[in-house]
Amino acid sequence: MNLPTVENEWLQLLRGFNDTAASYSQDTTLVQQFEARAAEQPLAPAVYVKDVVYTYGELNRAANRLAHALRLSGAGSGSIVALMLERSFDMLVAVYGVLKAGAAYLPLDAECPPKRLEAMLSDSSPGWVITEGGESRPSVLPSTAEWVTLDHLADLDLPGTNLPEGPQPGDLAYVIYTSGTTGDPKGVLVEHGALVNRIEWMQKKFPITDKDILFQKTVYTFDVSVWELVWWSTAGAAVCLLPPRKENDPRVFVRLIEKTGVSVIHFVPSVLRLFLEYIGSGFALERLNSLRYVFCSGEALTAPLARQFYHTFPEEQGVKLINLYGPTEAAIDVTYHVCERDSLDEPVPIGRPIDNIRLYILRDDFSLAPIGETGQLYISGAGLARGYLNQPQLTMERFVPNPYEPGQRMYRTGDLASWNREGEVMYAGREDDQIKLRGLRIELGEVESNLLRSVHVKAAVAGVRTGDTGEQFLTAFVVAATDAEPLPEQDKLRALRAELALYLPAYAIPTEMIWIDEIPLKRTGKADRSLLLAIHGGKAARS
Ligand code: AMP
Repeated sequence: MNLPTVENEWLQLLRGFNDTAASYSQDTTLVQQFEARAAEQPLAPAVYVKDVVYTYGELNRAANRLAHALRLSGAGSGSIVALMLERSFDMLVAVYGVLKAGAAYLPLDAECPPKRLEAMLSDSSPGWVITEGGESRPSVLPSTAEWVTLDHLADLDLPGTNLPEGPQPGDLAYVIYTSGTTGDPKGVLVEHGALVNRIEWMQKKFPITDKDILFQKTVYTFDVSVWELVWWSTAGAAVCLLPPRKENDPRVFVRLIEKTGVSVIHFVPSVLRLFLEYIGSGFALERLNSLRYVFCSGEALTAPLARQFYHTFPEEQGVKLINLYGPTEAAIDVTYHVCERDSLDEPVPIGRPIDNIRLYILRDDFSLAPIGETGQLYISGAGLARGYLNQPQLTMERFVPNPYEPGQRMYRTGDLASWNREGEVMYAGREDDQIKLRGLRIELGEVESNLLRSVHVKAAVAGVRTGDTGEQFLTAFVVAATDAEPLPEQDKLRALRAELALYLPAYAIPTEMIWIDEIPLKRTGKADRSLLLAIHGGKAARS
């Protein structure tokens, strides 16, 4: 590719910004690192769940038994093992057991809409599905998958010893499905090596020790959960498991932080807001004395929220707020910014690239956007995913050759961003129709495609509106199909909601649906979403 000429001075600067090369363990995986810890400190507390504490030795043995069982039935490098488990010690055993067997885990939410679950199971065709115990095989499981429960394994004579050969850095570690524009979710394939780089960077930058306890509070189908699930176990620390379905309940957070002594926690900014509001003023802050690091990611962190954070936690408390940014396609996070109490201007940067990650902000012609100019953000380096499962075309479109590093790929994020003079990246929204609602990634195209499945719908446009109190919600503008059975509007809506609930998770089902006569078009022929939102009193998803 012939690149437009760029000023040398700017190229030099960019090289400085991207000077992130650092050594990391390229020949091991987090499994071996955990096993080394388990051998060193078998009796150390590893997992706090309800009123029980499990040791490193107990977790390691339970995971080994599962790993041996999986290996005996043929699982290994390249296999996919689906999990349908709630947050529990068994869930952790399953994640570690699958990784130890050399296979990749695929986290699934048993309560996700049936058609969506079917789509993910049929796309990934896992050889094994691990579920909670039970007498009869769940009907949703594909006939080709072996059904495994930890209850069933309990009666088998399996060794609790480490497997002689664990996973290799190039093996797949996990497959996480994320919203896809075509109507079905797409599976992102992440290898162990990318994960090792991400976790080792975090440990170097924000070291934790056997005195620390991480909070595992993110649902395991969202990639933030991955660092919560594995980081602590490579550092000799412990993890505290939030009870299932309490992800938005600040009362439970406070109770468990205080009871267990949680020191590291993650929030999507909108949940951090809930947490800070709950704490409010006059709260006995010593109840949260153990907190050291509060990480945010998933959506933009605003300066007022960061200020509110430091207003709530005085300097003596010593707790730090860190903004992380990254897509599932680049092993969780690729940039970080430590928010300093005395410099919290808007916007809060998403920050500098982490170790072994290089960022490119490019114009449409692939030339480098100079400092201050907004362009498209591309990611290169050790964190890149292998691609999308069964989607070579989409993989080629999103993971493109890096013209600045021959032989390397870069991931086209769809995010807009600019550099500041300090070499930090400022986030500037999306160039496409992907949105975030409370940190959850939704392609408006996926919502629209699913609306169009209905016989009642001829055309549809989805968008985000901002309510009077500032909360954001999903809206759909729908044109009725004329040849469908004529039904009163309320009945049609009810039918439509029921149909959507088969395919879309609750957070991706529009809160409001507005029947309109026709979709206004832009001069390009595309639907004019902004106009629709403006007419119906709202803010566009992309401003
Ligand atoms: P996901 O793959 O679910 O982690 O979503 C990745 C997308 O979330 C990114 O491409 C951004 O659009 C958005 N995102 C993640 N972290 C941040 C952040 N700190 N600030 C702004 N947007 C973010």
